[in-house]
Amino acid sequence: KGDIRDQVFLESIFKEVYSLNNYFHAVIHLAGLKSVRESILKPKRYWDVNLNGSINLVNVMKKFNCYSIVFSSSATVYGIADKELLDENSIIKPCNVYGETKARIEKLLLNLCLENNNWRVCNLRYFNPAGAHYSGLIGEATCNNPNNLFPYLNLVAIGKKKFLRIYGNDWNTRDGTAIRDYLHVDDLAYGHLLIMQHILSDKFKIKNINIGTGKGTTVLELINTYQKVNNCEIPFEFVSRREGDVESLIADNQLLKKTLNWIPSKSLESMCLDSLNWQKNS
Ligand code: UDP
Repeated sequence: KGDIRDQVFLESIFKEVYSLNNYFHAVIHLAGLKSVRESILKPKRYWDVNLNGSINLVNVMKKFNCYSIVFSSSATVYGIADKELLDENSIIKPCNVYGETKARIEKLLLNLCLENNNWRVCNLRYFNPAGAHYSGLIGEATCNNPNNLFPYLNLVAIGKKKFLRIYGNDWNTRDGTAIRDYLHVDDLAYGHLLIMQHILSDKFKIKNINIGTGKGTTVLELINTYQKVNNCEIPFEFVSRREGDVESLIADNQLLKKTLNWIPSKSLESMCLDSLNWQKNS
């Protein structure tokens, strides 16, 4: 546990493994800040942690001859969707700082591959990860004022927050609220394992891959499902749109399905149940 920008710390992890006569086969790079809103308020911090942290990581990896990486990128790199389902060839045009940092890191990793034949990279573009491990033992440790929807819903459900603010009811969608493609974290984790096996068996050099269910849910639809499966009330209020938000992000997930046989197995209901279960246990 440490800071990705801290070179001495990162090297110490690699050294420790080497001292045991072992080595790092690959890295799953999840260390980044992830709030759209916060990235607009604190842009320098986002560039520093996300981009400088990634540069530090790849430098250390190279030093220790580790050239395989799965990077947790984001659907935010696409910005405003020009079609309902976003495939990997959609235009990269992020509309907030968070998305910009993810797009830059993807570019950095591409440049590394062009410069050195050893690198194996997957830019895994997450849509909206949600839920928690069904055991209730592993989940997202959030602060008191989370920016993301699921952790905030949890706090309203347990009475720590009075109501949820819905950012905009004037989007051009079926009920006026924004659409996202929510994906259970178990399916997300399984996707990483499959990709890692693929990378380590040298099936590709660099690939950008979407990971999402391919189904869109509005904020109101999500609240309804959450209330139903958890048998609770979620009071809400409409407020104006949040800066940096977009109307809809839904994955075209054919690449992941076809190349790796990955199939999302968990429903929106499971995400809502597991999410609150984790919150109650944590
Ligand atoms: N959202 C909301 N109220 C909140 C948090 C989020 O209405 O308190 C909406 C947000 O505008 C977006 C969706 O829920 O349309 C998902 O937001 P989140 O921050 O979880 O993920 P994002 O897609 O922004 O990365």
